[in-house]
Amino acid sequence: MRLSEIIGYYKKVAPEIARISAGREIAVKFGAEAGYGKRPDIAQFPSDILNHVRRGATSFHISEERWKDPLQLSTESTKTELDNLRNGWDLVFDIDCPWGFEIAKSTAKLVVQALRWHDIKNIFVKFSGSKGFHILVPYEAFPKELHKDEISKYYPEIPQLCAQYILEFIKPNLEKQILELASYDIKKLIEIFGTTKEKIFDEKTQSFHTNIFAQIDIGLMSSRHLFRAPYSLNEKSWLAAVPVQPDKIKDFEKDFAKPESINLEEGFMNFEGVRTGEASQLLMQTLDWQKRMEEKDEKKYSGRKFEFSDKVPEEAFPPCMKIILSGLQDGRKRSLFALLNFMKSAKWPWNEIEERVWEWNKKNSPPLKTGYVKAQLAWHARQSLKVPPPNCRQYFIELGVCKPDAICDKIKNPISYPKFKIGGMTSK
Ligand code: SF4
Repeated sequence: MRLSEIIGYYKKVAPEIARISAGREIAVKFGAEAGYGKRPDIAQFPSDILNHVRRGATSFHISEERWKDPLQLSTESTKTELDNLRNGWDLVFDIDCPWGFEIAKSTAKLVVQALRWHDIKNIFVKFSGSKGFHILVPYEAFPKELHKDEISKYYPEIPQLCAQYILEFIKPNLEKQILELASYDIKKLIEIFGTTKEKIFDEKTQSFHTNIFAQIDIGLMSSRHLFRAPYSLNEKSWLAAVPVQPDKIKDFEKDFAKPESINLEEGFMNFEGVRTGEASQLLMQTLDWQKRMEEKDEKKYSGRKFEFSDKVPEEAFPPCMKIILSGLQDGRKRSLFALLNFMKSAKWPWNEIEERVWEWNKKNSPPLKTGYVKAQLAWHARQSLKVPPPNCRQYFIELGVCKPDAICDKIKNPISYPKFKIGGMTSK
């Protein structure tokens, strides 16, 4: 798009972007290859948007979190400081499906249906500008308190849990819809997704790995994470992140998002009519589901025959963990998840885990964002239950860190590796 066309487009939508950005952090992109401009930033007036555009801005991104003063944010802010500065968050599902727009539509439709099933009326859907959709349930719909504390402090834990619960909730229907799309032909599925049978179908349970097909990216729900602002352009597709009627997702075509064909729908993400507690049912069901999952995990893991009597030294870590600890370029978030579970199960004191994780992050290229690492550490610190890392080997093969040695042939989970390397287990 030419600069004059970009300016002309944003002149039309800047008032709406500025209105929606109130109380949020914004970040500005200057071209497809560029990173974000200075952060934190805000857009109070349409002229703020247009000034950026005249300087070459192509897209605008807003935070899920709402802040008392976004300009007080800093990469050095502690979790407590962020909690005190935050005065809300929206639940935003990021439905981004690399395997085709039809599957993204099916997933988005099912998420909307699931939210409706939980009595939520105010659901805001928009095209992501690329391959999927963003579905938003506003903060105003949630009860103001949880466990006698402001619910604004439960970020990203509560939205992450809600997303996981909804994903579980829609799984059977999603699986059915994906199968229908492929006319129940597994060969066709393999062809569509360009993958192997093992990656899409679990022989043991005779069911599909639904997460492989369509992911609700819960990674979006991390501290200071952003999503494309409604009406912002996407500088790769030159399509706009336009609102979509929740009941018309299936009819949506990418052509509707061409800048020249959008109809400005004033009032998108206007939360005035949202009833407090509209999302209570979702919250209750999510917490109940979490409890059931924890009990299940407890049963599964508390019956372990052994545990380490002392902290496992790094020399006794399995190859995958050593490779992760040497620093990564890709798969850093999933690796952090596995690493934290491994170290907790390997009897590392929490302060040493934190120290080692920060040291590790410096070796990553690029390092994970400070806010993301802080949020993950905070979440894991709160989980009293020690859950082992994912089993060998698929998860680690996908991360490119599974380099088995002779001991690996004897084990099913990386946490068993040190037992053979150094012994040191005690019977329970
Ligand atoms: S086999 Fe298991 S323990 Fe060994 S490197 Fe692979 S994932 Fe790690």
